[in-house]
Amino acid sequence: QTITNVRKAGGNSIMSLSNEAHKALSRQALIEKRLLLALDQKNLNVLYQPQLDMHTGKIIAAEALVRWMDEEIGVVTPDELIPIAEETGLIHSIGSFVLEQACQQALTWQDQGISLKISINVSIREFRDKNMARSILETLERTKCPANLIQIEITEKFALEAESETAIMKQMRQLEQEGIVFVLDDFGTGYASFRYMQLLPLKTVKIDATFIRAMTQSEKTEQLVRGIIQLAKSMQLIVLAEGVETAEQFKLLKDFGCDLVQGYYVCKPTTANDVKGLYHQKL
Ligand code: C2E
Ligand code: CA
Ligand code: CA
Ligand code: CA
Repeated sequence: QTITNVRKAGGNSIMSLSNEAHKALSRQALIEKRLLLALDQKNLNVLYQPQLDMHTGKIIAAEALVRWMDEEIGVVTPDELIPIAEETGLIHSIGSFVLEQACQQALTWQDQGISLKISINVSIREFRDKNMARSILETLERTKCPANLIQIEITEKFALEAESETAIMKQMRQLEQEGIVFVLDDFGTGYASFRYMQLLPLKTVKIDATFIRAMTQSEKTEQLVRGIIQLAKSMQLIVLAEGVETAEQFKLLKDFGCDLVQGYYVCKPTTANDVKGLYHQKL
C-alpha cells in the first residue's frame, strides 16, 4: 500500500525509497508489464485440485488455481500475483481467463461422463464492479457451460465498505438464481466471516488451512474446528476443510462430521487429466 502511494506521489519520492522498496517496486512494474502480455497471449495456466466427499470417498468438485510461468521472470506464485493483479485491476482479466478455462473444462468433463463441479476464486471486492455478475453469465452463455457446474469461492481479506454490501449481494443473488453456488473461502480468517455467514447466499463454508494445520497441535483449535463444523451444519451449510495434509487430520475431520476435504492428503493441484483419473477411484 505504501509503495503505491509513493508511486502516485511522483518521481521524486521514488528516489528517496530504500533499496529494498525500490526493488519491490520495479519487480511489481515488471510483473504488471509481463502479465499484460501473458493475458494477451493466453500464456497463463490453470491447475485443478480435487474436493473429496468424505461420506462417499469420491471426488465431487475441483478448484481451479491459476499458474503463471513467465519466460523472463520465471514462476510467479498466486500469492504474489493476485495482490498485484488486484491493485492494478488486472484481476478482472485473470478472472475471465480462469472462468473461461473452467467452463471449457467442466464441459469437457461432462462430455466424458465425469460429473465434477469447478470452483473458481473471486475476491468479494470484484463484485464492486457492477457488471461482474453479467460478465460471468455472459461467459457461461458463450461457452455453453451450465451454471450449476460452477462454484464461486468468495474471499475477503480486507474490510468492505458498508455501502457496497447491498450491491454485492444483489449480484450474488442474481448468480445464485441462475444456479451458481457460493463457497465462503478462508473461513475464520476473513475480516467478517460471521457477518458473511449470515448475510451471503452461501452453500458451503471452507475452513481455512491455518486451523486444520493447528488442529492436531492444539486442543483448543481442535475444539474450535469441531465447533465451526457443528455451527455450519446447524445453519444447513456444507463444510469443506482445506489444507488437509495428514491421515490424522483427515480422521479427526471425519469424526467431526466434516463433509468435504481438500489438500495434499487427497491430491495436490494437478492437471485436468489427472483429476479425471482420480474420479473413478475411491478414497
Ligand atoms: P486458496 O483459495 O485458499 O487456495 C488454496 C491454496 O493452498 C492453493 O495455493 C493450493 O495450491 C494450496 N494448497 C492446497 N492444498 C494444500 C495443502 O494440503 N497444503 C498446503 N500447504 N497448501 C495447499 P495457490 O494455488 O498458490 O493459491 C494461493 C491463493 O491465491 C489461493 O488461496 C487464492 O486465494 C489465490 N488464487 C489462486 N488462483 C486464483 C485465481 O485464479 N483467482 C483468484 N482471484 N485467486 C486465486
Ligand atoms: Ca479458494
Ligand atoms: Ca485458504
Ligand atoms: Ca487463501
